[in-house]
Amino acid sequence: MHYLDNSATTPVLREAAERAFSVMTADFGNPSSQHKMGIAAAHILEESRKAVANALHAAPGEILFTSCGTESTNMALFGAARRKRKGHILTTAIEHAATLSCCKRLGQEGFDITYLQPDEAGHISAGRFAAALRDDTILASIMLINNETGARLPVDECGRALKRRCPEALFHIDAVQGFFRVPLTPSKWSCDLMSISGHKIGAPKGIGALYLKKGLHLSPLLHGGGQENGLRSGTEALPNIAAFGTACEIRASSFARDVQHVETLKQALLAGLQARLPWALINGAGDVPHVISLSLPGCKSEVVLRILEGDEIYVSAGSACSKGKESHVLRAMKLDKARIDSAIRVSFSPFNAIEDVEALLTGLEKAAAMLKRR
Ligand code: PLP
Repeated sequence: MHYLDNSATTPVLREAAERAFSVMTADFGNPSSQHKMGIAAAHILEESRKAVANALHAAPGEILFTSCGTESTNMALFGAARRKRKGHILTTAIEHAATLSCCKRLGQEGFDITYLQPDEAGHISAGRFAAALRDDTILASIMLINNETGARLPVDECGRALKRRCPEALFHIDAVQGFFRVPLTPSKWSCDLMSISGHKIGAPKGIGALYLKKGLHLSPLLHGGGQENGLRSGTEALPNIAAFGTACEIRASSFARDVQHVETLKQALLAGLQARLPWALINGAGDVPHVISLSLPGCKSEVVLRILEGDEIYVSAGSACSKGKESHVLRAMKLDKARIDSAIRVSFSPFNAIEDVEALLTGLEKAAAMLKRR
């Protein structure tokens, strides 16, 4: 099996799964219980929070556990916007559906939303971001790494521009695709809120976190027993949380080596394409090694996906959430239809090997030969 769809999700690391199992079956107390088992569970919760905080160079008190990246973003955007009754929100046209859907809803509630358009490489410049700020901007939300093209947005400069022009406005970064792909330093990026997700880094599905800058208070989406500092009521998903902490520790211990390895895989793929399918087109700037979008014009993505799948090679035709719909990201980049219809996203993890790249190249050659012959 050659799994090259790691931006959609990743397999759970064995150590993380074992940790979850032991928390489910042995350390299964409720962190709010007052007896010894509850205290042990609360200790696991806080140790896991520390591990996630370390990954963001943040303080443990700045980490709030959620169920996924989507929930983190909902909490950030609705929580930030609803501190005000009206105002301007700045985001981009290439965000993940989680951000776009929240912004659409906030637009219906009366907030004024600006969607910045990318250039042909999928970039949005800090200059264009700064120029779109207004006196009434209350919130800006942009992604760090685009999930379809691997374009990196200049969050650092955007954050500075926002705070200079609108000091009261909040800055949210969707860092789901940057987590353990590039170093994350929210405190250096004028960032108030940052979304991350466990299942993209070898933790189970069903766990995410929101970085919430110290001192910032949002109104909660869930009301109840007051867990997570009153911000997210409901008994904590301790097995998933503990697995998330373990995955963070493991990924942190090999981070530099992993980035290097993934860069080697990307270079091998690009060189292989150049040699074996020189007419393949790369979509976007591809600023990071772990996501590559390529098109084989004339070869429809869905059909290529099925051919590759026949040889147990798994990639995606865009974001996993788009379920075969035309990519809003590639459309916003104004790529032509043949290129959009044939786009394939390859996304690496550090656990991929050069054999996976070789299998993919052979699979793409086979698919191209079959489809071009028709
Ligand atoms: N943001 C980006 C950029 C993503 O790629 C994803 C998932 O693919 C999400 C948010 C949503 O994360 P989750 O699947 O944990 O809800």
